[in-house]
Amino acid sequence: MESQRLFLVEERMKTFKNWPFSDKNKCNVRNMAEAGFYSVATGPDDADAAKCFLCGKELDGWEASDDPWAEHKSHAAKCAFVQIGKNEDDLLFSELLSIIKQYMINNIKRTAEVTKEQIDEKAKAVRRRCLGRKC
Ligand SMILES: [Zn+2]
Repeated sequence: MESQRLFLVEERMKTFKNWPFSDKNKCNVRNMAEAGFYSVATGPDDADAAKCFLCGKELDGWEASDDPWAEHKSHAAKCAFVQIGKNEDDLLFSELLSIIKQYMINNIKRTAEVTKEQIDEKAKAVRRRCLGRKC
């Protein structure tokens, strides 16, 4: 589960440890973090894997000239962060609240999905056991 701290652009910036682009590139660490992304890289093979802290959209295959906000928008237009489309420092309090609300809703949804999968797995196992015993 993602840390609550990923709400903060500074914290998101810290996750980009081996980001393959330099500050001169459009998709540099700051622009990525400001557009809501944090790094989910696990090694050299997915060094450019990044995820939105709010909608959970994961993107890779970045190019130096990619604009993180534009990519976020084109791949996750419904994301509340994209819809507000502002850097953290420019957010109004009401906008921040609506982002927090959306974050909580998304978290609950994700938890519900994981729980549902676990229940389905259990149900499958029980069914298999029953079939084995012909009950
Ligand atoms: Zn998003």
